[in-house]
Amino acid sequence: MQKLKDEIIPNQKLSKELLDNLNKQFEVAGPDQVLLWGFRTFGTDMVLGTGFGPSGMFLIYRLWELGLEIPIFYLDTLLLFEETYELRDRIEERFDIDITRVSSDLSLEDQAEKFGDKLWETNPNRCCHLRKVLPLRNYLSDKKAWITGVRRSQSERRRDTDFVEWDPENEVIKINPLANWTGDQVWGYIRGKGLPYNPLHDEGYPSIGCIPCTQPVDSEEPEDERLGRWQGLEKTECGIHLSTQKNGS
Ligand code: SF4
Repeated sequence: MQKLKDEIIPNQKLSKELLDNLNKQFEVAGPDQVLLWGFRTFGTDMVLGTGFGPSGMFLIYRLWELGLEIPIFYLDTLLLFEETYELRDRIEERFDIDITRVSSDLSLEDQAEKFGDKLWETNPNRCCHLRKVLPLRNYLSDKKAWITGVRRSQSERRRDTDFVEWDPENEVIKINPLANWTGDQVWGYIRGKGLPYNPLHDEGYPSIGCIPCTQPVDSEEPEDERLGRWQGLEKTECGIHLSTQKNGS
């Protein structure tokens, strides 16, 4: 494997110059090189977060094939589709791995009592904050880096995503190995390898999150891959990937 020109060591101060150099090299290196660099740098203090979308499936498979045994987790809002939980089970069985469940201590009943019924309708930002942002922050508090499946092509708001960036919300390094991949590339790989994926994608759901905030869409190839999430609202992000939005959003 070709050695990268710049290696960083954990706790090293990340200068903008260092990040820029790494990101420049990763632009042509490919996702495996990013994952291998992350593992050399952070070891098992690096974790993968997934919502079991196509990018997550790709990354789980690549980690498995490269033999990089790092913790994999998902955010369980208690509002996920049955198909998503079934996919989690299938992945665990196929790759012989345990996927860590990260969830809020706040039950849906307590949330309704405290903030009102159907908070996802009355105040979806608060709902996401309670059920996703805070549990994530808590889980990452003793980690050094997390890998995500965020890609530039997923939406306008993600167009500036870097491969390696500082995540100020969670105070860890955020690694996006698929930053410059398209949806077609990811799906081509999944189909080519026969990897499992959420069957709801075949029923018109380009992006799959919580049941109350996910809708199918008409278009077979939607321009925005995250179409169908929080339909009718300006909201397009749950808040866990805000650090990738550098365009002032
Ligand atoms: S996606 Fe919807 S239901 Fe899920 S946490 Fe956010 S607002 Fe709540």
